[in-house]
Amino acid sequence: MTAFAEIKVYNTLSRSLETFKPLYGNRVFMFVCGPTVYDYSHLGHARVFVFYDTLARFLRKMGYSLFYIVNITDVDDKIVNRAREEGKHPLELAREFETYYYEDMKSLNVTSVNLYARASDYLQEIFDQIEVLLRKNHAYVTETGVYFDIMTFPDYGKLSGQKPEDLRVHRIEPDPTKRNPGDFALWRNRPREEFGWESPWGYGRPGWHIEDTAITLKHFGKQYDIHGGAIELAFPHHEAEIAQAESYTGVKPFVKYWIHVGLLTVNGEKMSKSLGNFITIREALRKYNANVIRIFLLSRHYRSPLDFRWELMDQAKSSFERIENSYRNLLEMAELEEVTENEEKLLSDVAILKEKFFSSLRDDLNTANALAQFFELVRMVNSYVDSVGTITAKGKSQIASTFLELADVLGLRLESQVDISLLKTLVSILIDVRSILRERKEFDLADEIRSRLRDLGIELQDTPQGTKWRIKSPYRLSQ
Ligand SMILES: [Zn+2]
Repeated sequence: MTAFAEIKVYNTLSRSLETFKPLYGNRVFMFVCGPTVYDYSHLGHARVFVFYDTLARFLRKMGYSLFYIVNITDVDDKIVNRAREEGKHPLELAREFETYYYEDMKSLNVTSVNLYARASDYLQEIFDQIEVLLRKNHAYVTETGVYFDIMTFPDYGKLSGQKPEDLRVHRIEPDPTKRNPGDFALWRNRPREEFGWESPWGYGRPGWHIEDTAITLKHFGKQYDIHGGAIELAFPHHEAEIAQAESYTGVKPFVKYWIHVGLLTVNGEKMSKSLGNFITIREALRKYNANVIRIFLLSRHYRSPLDFRWELMDQAKSSFERIENSYRNLLEMAELEEVTENEEKLLSDVAILKEKFFSSLRDDLNTANALAQFFELVRMVNSYVDSVGTITAKGKSQIASTFLELADVLGLRLESQVDISLLKTLVSILIDVRSILRERKEFDLADEIRSRLRDLGIELQDTPQGTKWRIKSPYRLSQ
């Protein structure tokens, strides 16, 4: 890989496209706000985690050494409330949904995370940070907890473009003991019968924002490269993280690039638990495989809103089938000994498209354009198969690896060449057996073969030239 071709990313902090340059050489530290584990994740969450997984794959592909952390919020009022309803311990409920979350991520081929960090494992760091913030007079203790005084941090509002004076009166977490309505909690005292910890300031639970800085200050130090999450977290969550970390360390900026993902909407409204308009990842996976869901989620630029519609999932499904079929057509092409001019032209066109694919991603992770280049590659290969139809083994494997390379950056899984050749052999055996059965007029058994194959996603078509077959839904085969 050519070392570090220029990558542009949109930084919410500067509200502009910036050239990506990590703080420490080729090392990149990235943190993304993970799930609050009190329920199943939905497609809105999937959009966020699929995007950063793609960003992570891309940065590694570009030669960066990436350390990627996602936190697991396992301490939260929502968890405590649901656990009470279900008669469980909050951490028991949290572990259950944490497991479901990992299952969902695995199903979606989200594999790039180095560390999932649970908030409850960082109590000591949380205590230390609160203590320092108190000592530096950025925080104060009341009878209800410990709060950050936002008036002590003049940069408060810099991420979301708001003034501290306006935010001072902006009411969050209403509590009569706070100095300013906009102050946020670092620690909240809770009744002893509730789940919590002893702290120097009383029995209770940490605030949400301090959980994230506890994790990143521990693993990444005072500064790191990328903080991600859904755009709606920019205020107050990320704003509060900046206030805590920069007040704690005295070093700015805490995070160099703030990269936020736009909303997944349904009829223009945010997909959310509270609106009840959500589709869980599990539910979506019952209808579509991970490749289809990823193509749908990556089909718009990450900063634009993406409106969910089942038709768009169907479109994504046929898009993925086009890629799979083209890949299969390529692998099935008859092989030549000598390179022809046609093949040379194809190989150079493929190289150009591959470069365009990566330059789309270097342009603020434009996955929509990258996908368009991939489909252009599919069209080109299909038309070559139709018009020329032969290629050398070397040319074939070169193009096949381009398919696999592009697919891998987007987190799509194409079947490997080995699987395909084995599959071809098995299907042709079954087709032969079926024709023998038909000759013997054993139509029931012949139909049985056809219908069992169809259940697997393989369709047989009888033509005057013999029986042809194609894969309708390739993913099911690999399960
Ligand atoms: Zn967070």
